[in-house]
Amino acid sequence: MPTPPTMTPKALIHQKYGAKASYRVEEVREAVDGGCPGLAVPQQTRSVYRCSLDLPGLTVVTPGTFVRKKDAEQAAAQIALDKLGIQPTANAPSTPAEAWDELIARISGFFADENFPSSSHPLIGHMSMTFRRTGDRFGMIPMSAIAACDVKVNTLCKLIDPKAEFDPLLVLSLIYNAAKKSPGVSVSDSNFWIQSQRPYSVEAVDLALHRWSGKSNPIEVDGVFVPCVMEDELKTISLNLSHNEHYMGDIVSTLSAIDSSHVVVSRTVGKASSEMRLYFSAPNVQYVSDISNNAVACLGDGNMECLINKRASYISGQTIYGDAILANVGYTRRDSELRTEDVTLSTYYRILLGKLPDGNYKMSRDSILVAELPSAYSRSSWRGLSPRDLLCSFCRVQRLAEPCFAVNRVGSSCEVLGSAVSSEEIGVPKNAENPDMFKCEVKIYSKQQELLLEYLMADTWGKESDAIHNSSLKVLIWFNSYFKQLNKHVEKLSLSKNTDGLTIYPEKFLQEFSMCLSIYGNTGGDDSRTCNTVGSLSTDTSKQKLENNATLAHIDGPDSGVFPSHGSLTCICYTASLVVKDKAKSYLLESNNEFEFEIGIGAVRNQIESCVTQLSVNQTACFVAEMPPRDLILAAASEFSDDLSKICRDNCFLEFFVKVLQVTEPLEDRMEKALFNPPLSKQRVEFAVRHINELHATTLVDFGCGSGSLLDSLLEHSTTLEKVVGVDISLKGLTRAAKSLHQKLSKNSLTQTNVPAAVLYDGSITDFDSRLYRFDIGTCLEVIEHVEEDQATLFGNVVLSSFCPTVLIVSTPNYEYNPILQRSAMPNKNDEPEENAGPCKFRNHDHKFEWTRSQFQHWATDLSVKHNYSVEFSGVGGSGEEPGFASQIAVFRRLPSNQEEICYDRELHQPYELLWEWGNASLPSQ
Ligand code: SAH
Ligand code: MG
Repeated sequence: MPTPPTMTPKALIHQKYGAKASYRVEEVREAVDGGCPGLAVPQQTRSVYRCSLDLPGLTVVTPGTFVRKKDAEQAAAQIALDKLGIQPTANAPSTPAEAWDELIARISGFFADENFPSSSHPLIGHMSMTFRRTGDRFGMIPMSAIAACDVKVNTLCKLIDPKAEFDPLLVLSLIYNAAKKSPGVSVSDSNFWIQSQRPYSVEAVDLALHRWSGKSNPIEVDGVFVPCVMEDELKTISLNLSHNEHYMGDIVSTLSAIDSSHVVVSRTVGKASSEMRLYFSAPNVQYVSDISNNAVACLGDGNMECLINKRASYISGQTIYGDAILANVGYTRRDSELRTEDVTLSTYYRILLGKLPDGNYKMSRDSILVAELPSAYSRSSWRGLSPRDLLCSFCRVQRLAEPCFAVNRVGSSCEVLGSAVSSEEIGVPKNAENPDMFKCEVKIYSKQQELLLEYLMADTWGKESDAIHNSSLKVLIWFNSYFKQLNKHVEKLSLSKNTDGLTIYPEKFLQEFSMCLSIYGNTGGDDSRTCNTVGSLSTDTSKQKLENNATLAHIDGPDSGVFPSHGSLTCICYTASLVVKDKAKSYLLESNNEFEFEIGIGAVRNQIESCVTQLSVNQTACFVAEMPPRDLILAAASEFSDDLSKICRDNCFLEFFVKVLQVTEPLEDRMEKALFNPPLSKQRVEFAVRHINELHATTLVDFGCGSGSLLDSLLEHSTTLEKVVGVDISLKGLTRAAKSLHQKLSKNSLTQTNVPAAVLYDGSITDFDSRLYRFDIGTCLEVIEHVEEDQATLFGNVVLSSFCPTVLIVSTPNYEYNPILQRSAMPNKNDEPEENAGPCKFRNHDHKFEWTRSQFQHWATDLSVKHNYSVEFSGVGGSGEEPGFASQIAVFRRLPSNQEEICYDRELHQPYELLWEWGNASLPSQ
């Protein structure tokens, strides 16, 4: 409320040019779908807008287009401002001297009778209060009320001295010095009361009293005491507002202030609509009046009264001195009644949490203890505030300028595939019909328009909004881990200048975040106490080391066979309770009846994800979890926050109860099912079976077997196989595989199978294991795209040079087929690209790449030549005509050579861990 919103570019242009500025918005039709080289499929279109702006002597046009007309106009206005070198500033008055005169005039205006008892008078509440008072203080108002109630006064103070924005004490000083010069008002030399020099008219007093309902006393309200000394705990205090002197009576005594005129009030904290403020005690009048007079540079040295309260300053974004009280009381609205609301410890910790992207995201999901800022964005599975909104909100709470997003249209080429291979190298022709792709540049400026950080993504996206959200997320993740790192008492902050498309301007950056840094950086004390505002940040989601059976206490309910897999959208309900061991008492901290998230992108606490992926739909689990940081507990605790702040952590544990309600398969599976009958996975099995029988193969190894769908189906087919082996690095997948294989292979199984032996290994397919040397067939279906390109090539080299199967079958998605899949999975896609659950860049978030036919063929041909294999290309899904099969397959065949078979020392090359085996496991692999 007290800070006027910064002017938009359009408003600034209007201020300078008025009707002479003319905007022309032009509608452009553009293709909706993501680019796909060489694909001649009809494209849907949508409307986007380009804007040109005519000013006297200058015409500008937006280089890109915008989904919304108003964004196009603002962008054009911004370009014009940049060209003209106009910086956003407030309206007249424009010089500090003019502002000073106006401040003096405004203050005397408050006390001029003719302006007074109107309901729009900013000080109406205080006036009405002061007339109810008897004795000396009749008619007196604390000057801090002027700062708290009047937006204009704040604006003027900022003009006189820009530092006023961040310093309520300076504002008080300016008001004091202005009031001394204001005609018609009287101020004393010993306190900060202000009153009219003339006696107030009887009518004014009557009117003011009349506006008051006469109830409202006494009132009890809770506030939070924020001690200046970092080692001291915050505590909830109860404020009794029945005091006769002024409504701040109890605040005065808690702060040991001289009287309520000596209580300084910050601007509002928290939500824009909130009246929550920080109250602190002002030093003596002489000291305060000197601040603005002499521009005293160093507050604080040796002066206990003026020590900066770091915690209070951080949450308010203003400099707060000494002990402070966070409370929601006062006549700060234009209202004669005193408005109050309890402020709890939880309120404080929520504000703290909201300062960082991760915490803000948690709150937007109403899930402080479970949700985490995901590491990947997709329109269909993102829940909670969007990355763009999170970034805007982050800049707002950190008192930065609004972030700038510049979307650039780029002609599509193979770089859009997220592949390291350039289009020239693999010979994909640039196609004029390709729709454009978008890149988004993000710039973060300080309020003073100094560039702090910029990000230019290397990736391009088929949709403008996807580009914006993806780059916003990158920036958010960077900020998050930066502040995280500060929590760890790192001596030297690593502020590398240029990483991953991010450029940071360290000098300005550190300057801008100095308050932040002092809160997160050197608190000196116990981490969990003051600075751990963010929960565990899960950027490292590629590591599948989530298996944590030890924490699983109890799983209930029959296995329904439908389980959350990587990339699936899973809906759970949960409760999180804090249990106090000795008292056997439990507090329900958080519960959620429907919480949906995508598996595999770090969208929830690790332990929750590892628990959920062990459950199937309708199963429940109950487990004990590590205690999250204290700040998180207190933020979640709401009404118990006071109780919990006193409880010893060592005596507590957190207990989760989780139920899986529903699982929506990954987009990839949905797309494949929507289009193919039999499903693609079945078609891959048939494809493998044909080759097995053709070769009379007796041994098969499935590299990256996952949950064993291929092995399982092979057991049902009649083939020549005698032994099948599965290798994977995911224990979850292997456990599923083991369950389904066991049903068919265990001795007393009813299902007949023709394959006598099966083995499952835990290991990485980029490591050679001699037990799988020279198998007849190796399969590697839909796996390589789950590892980085260099790892895919490493696998190719290892398998063809060391494992040496007679035949190797490798399948991977054909990127060129994606538009068809996406259209069929989203048949109702219409002209609302924003709302629609649209396609992600790849078929599955876990895919590190998806190749075009020529990229895949390039990869496979290179390998075959190098290792003396032949290679042949085929596929499943579709006819194979343009744009190729949905899933492309390479079949490698070992060519005869004079090279001797290598004799491996069987003991030495066995990195794989044997997990399960059935039948005659020692059956020779030859
Ligand atoms: N082939 C299966 C599973 C495909 S999903 C099917 O067609 O259904 C990809 C699988 O590759 C996952 O199970 C994953 O755990 C596995 N994987 C990824 N990298 C691996 C590696 N380096 N070694 C072994 N398995 C890997
Ligand atoms: Mg895949």
